[in-house]
Amino acid sequence: MWRIGTERSIFKQGMREVDDSKAGFVRSRADFRPAYLDIWDSGELEQRVARGLQLMTPCRACPRVCGVDRLQDEIGACRAGRLAPVSSAFPHHGEENCLRGWKGSGTIFFSGCNLRCVFCQNSDISWGGQGQPLTATQIALLMLELQDRGCHNINFVTPEHVVPQLLEAVLEAVEQGLRLPLVYNTSGYDCAESLALLDGVIDIYMPDFKFWDAAVAKRLVMAEDYPERAREAIREMHRQVGDLVVDEDGVALRGLLIRHLVMPRGLAGTRQIMRYLAQEISRDTFVNLMAQYRPAALVLTRAGRYPEIDRAITVGEFVEAKQICFEEGIRRFSDP
Ligand code: SF4
Repeated sequence: MWRIGTERSIFKQGMREVDDSKAGFVRSRADFRPAYLDIWDSGELEQRVARGLQLMTPCRACPRVCGVDRLQDEIGACRAGRLAPVSSAFPHHGEENCLRGWKGSGTIFFSGCNLRCVFCQNSDISWGGQGQPLTATQIALLMLELQDRGCHNINFVTPEHVVPQLLEAVLEAVEQGLRLPLVYNTSGYDCAESLALLDGVIDIYMPDFKFWDAAVAKRLVMAEDYPERAREAIREMHRQVGDLVVDEDGVALRGLLIRHLVMPRGLAGTRQIMRYLAQEISRDTFVNLMAQYRPAALVLTRAGRYPEIDRAITVGEFVEAKQICFEEGIRRFSDP
């Protein structure tokens, strides 16, 4: 078992035995240079900010392509206007071990969302719009404060609908001394244009791959094209950053980390997703197979409308999902 601790020694004591060093997935942190420094040096980062703002008018910053003018503060499906709404920022000790380390992952939670998962666990933030619209300068300040507190990375949670604002904030933060790797922690419902803007900015992509089947996605996340968009996005993310690489302490530096939530009754399509990852992306794709599905308030208040997801998964369902991962060739997993 890993342990959450505030000291490196406790963190290392809890590390499991992995073959990452033998397999070439360990790099020296001393040699690490965040991706964004190169495009900042060349002036490209400033150009990305300008291109990002263009994506907001009319808005096509995600696959919803709402077409509203967000520079004029019009609101689309994600419920975010010109400024990025932030619900909280803090050193997160509940993320994957390779992100939280012993000092925490410097997490910035954006509110609003471009998906509408009927089982959302954070509906007050994603659907309810809880959060404060912040300027790029304010978000940059949050990033620098998290760096000062010793966090191992900056972790943007639910950023799909605020990529232009994220770029604005990164530019300001880098100018003021930000040097941590950036984590893009996404549902996977991202568009090619946004991901192109993030190429050379993000070091660690952490997308969900929620569902394989379009009909299931249409019903449960209100986006029939989710599986196709997620496949395209993950392929592009892997092209940009490759397989996950960690430092000598097991803390992530760069690469792709997939989250997959096991759903009741096999609804997620775990076998097809793992086959896709192993055969089309990489057998060394780092996977966090998650067992924590519970019917959230949204499901419970719509009693009877979603009977297929009205219970937690069983131990047997999780064991079967793990077995499927092995059978399909996945071999690198995040610890529970
Ligand atoms: S980012 Fe928001 S407004 Fe823009 S296309 Fe996506 S959901 Fe619509």
